[in-house]
Amino acid sequence: MRILVIEDERKVASLIASGLTEQGWAVEVCGNGDDGLRIATNENFDALVLDIMLPGRDGLSLLRKLRAQHSPVPVILLSARGDVNERVEGLEIGADDYLPKPFSVIELVARLRAIIRRRTGDSLTVLTLADLSLNLHQRTVTRGDKQIELTSREFALLETFLSSPGRVLSRTFLSQKIWGYQFDPETNVIDVAVRRLRGKIDEGFSPKLIQTVRGVGYSIAAE
Ligand code: CA
Repeated sequence: MRILVIEDERKVASLIASGLTEQGWAVEVCGNGDDGLRIATNENFDALVLDIMLPGRDGLSLLRKLRAQHSPVPVILLSARGDVNERVEGLEIGADDYLPKPFSVIELVARLRAIIRRRTGDSLTVLTLADLSLNLHQRTVTRGDKQIELTSREFALLETFLSSPGRVLSRTFLSQKIWGYQFDPETNVIDVAVRRLRGKIDEGFSPKLIQTVRGVGYSIAAE
């Protein structure tokens, strides 16, 4: 399990982080809303713990933005205020659960397990970046509201990219991973395949996701 905790109160954040780490989960902590949105958009997590009052973008606005990008990641909201309207708003814009402060980390863990379980077979099989999502179970790809048809090789290529967002993947790595063997360095098979994939998932969309790293290979990133 990989959990992103977006919480600016250091004491609370480190309490949560140590509690989740004890479960054997990998935890990333971020202290403001703008960075939180960037990390949540560019990386894959099994769940988000999201504080509402944050410097930069607040938690509700961050969540609204994530859901507008069709991110299916389960989200549990934290709030200092036990405000019913805020709770209702959070759930309406796509939070999976809500925990008023102060809370016990044991309860947070139990609720995280519950929302992750609810989304299993759904979010855990979906890789996303910005408004692009790839469903490993249904073998479907969408960008925004548009369904995109890929060949099985293009699908494998996109799955490889989305499994390591931001990482530069060399032509050697891609040819071994997707085609199962090493092409002659002079060949442009990989470039042609990437160009076709790019034509399908990037053309007519913004931002462009597949980036060329001159002389090395390619990476996928939202900026
Ligand atoms: Ca806060």
